[in-house]
Amino acid sequence: MYICSKSTMMKQLFLLLFSVLTIAAFPQNMDYAHYVLNNLGSEDFKGRGFVGGGDKTAAGFIKSQLDSLGVKPVGKSYFQPFTLTVNTFPEKIFLSVDGKELIPGKDFLLDMHSGSADGKFPVKTVTLSELKSGIPKNLKKSFVLLQNDTQDKDAAKTIRSIVYANLLNAAGYLLPEDKLVNEPATEVFKHVVIKVKSNVIDSLPKVIKITAKNKFLKNYQTQNVFGYIQGKTDSFIVFSAHYDHLGKLGERATFYGANDNGSGVTMLLNLANYFTHHSPHYSILFMFFSGEEEGLLGSFYAAQHPVVDLKKIKFLFNLDMVGTGQEGIQIVNSTVFKRETSILQEINDKNHYLVKIKLRGPAANSDHYPFYDKGVPSFFIYTLGGSKQYHNIYDKPDQLSLFAFPNLVKLLIGFEKQYQ
Ligand SMILES: [Zn+2]
Repeated sequence: MYICSKSTMMKQLFLLLFSVLTIAAFPQNMDYAHYVLNNLGSEDFKGRGFVGGGDKTAAGFIKSQLDSLGVKPVGKSYFQPFTLTVNTFPEKIFLSVDGKELIPGKDFLLDMHSGSADGKFPVKTVTLSELKSGIPKNLKKSFVLLQNDTQDKDAAKTIRSIVYANLLNAAGYLLPEDKLVNEPATEVFKHVVIKVKSNVIDSLPKVIKITAKNKFLKNYQTQNVFGYIQGKTDSFIVFSAHYDHLGKLGERATFYGANDNGSGVTMLLNLANYFTHHSPHYSILFMFFSGEEEGLLGSFYAAQHPVVDLKKIKFLFNLDMVGTGQEGIQIVNSTVFKRETSILQEINDKNHYLVKIKLRGPAANSDHYPFYDKGVPSFFIYTLGGSKQYHNIYDKPDQLSLFAFPNLVKLLIGFEKQYQ
């Protein structure tokens, strides 16, 4: 039996008090960050896609966090509804190649443009050189594996375009890949494209068995989530991040999207936690977008239907994939907004927050873009180094170091203070 002496008790009490004070005093509360990230990247959120209402679970969670932090809605509601169209596979998917069952997400992905398929199909291997002498006939009931037997550097591209356009008029295609990367699709083919890991199939597969049923969601209602903190002025600093991800492929494969973009949402909620305790100079607007993966749909909608006058936005920071940082950060648009870039560099040089700040010109690769396009000065920041998991089932919270997380939060807070 362990008996606690009085001095140890005092010491423990002191430590407890100290840790409580530390959490309150420092801008980055890593316990809160882990809590948010682990929630967003859990099975309950279904990959924050459109199968089983994962987007709604995530939006509800963000709303309840904003509410309990004391961040107010802009207008009556935290939500800005809009619709999108997307192809999904909500039901169980089965695939075997030559009698060997393959696991969705791990061994194969259905390209999200795929339609439904059910049954047993012979696999015909066709080489690119064979195609030069004409397109083989009667592949209608077969799956085709296209093989590159040429020296052509663009062979992979050629194969892809043949497969997507279904030039061989086949029931479907097997597309061997070294790395599986999932991308959403807003239109659907009649044929099926299976991206399969090269090392799990024979070089000349003979037969596949497949059950896959797509559900094309037309005008599915999703929502952006906004909240704001009143500052001393009516002009805004905006922090934005998309909360949607790729959802589920069948019942078994979940794309958790911890880095993409649970990490960005986590950072916004941590900033909200800071600014509700430390009154900002600017009013702070938080924008959480849906439909980013389908082509920045939520942010385009938000830029076209702005909840605050876009002219009142002094600066916008979009955070997408900020869960690492062993090699620093990269800032899109930093070569355009030089004054803002040098403010960040100056704060960083003084405090040694980040290993490196890499500069980059404009790019339409995340949610800052629809706003930048409308003349809103903006940066898109992502972290460098660490986990390489991207658009696959392994982008999970336990893969992320959050190496730069606390200091990137401090850098952004420092910018808000200095930028006047
Ligand atoms: Zn993404």
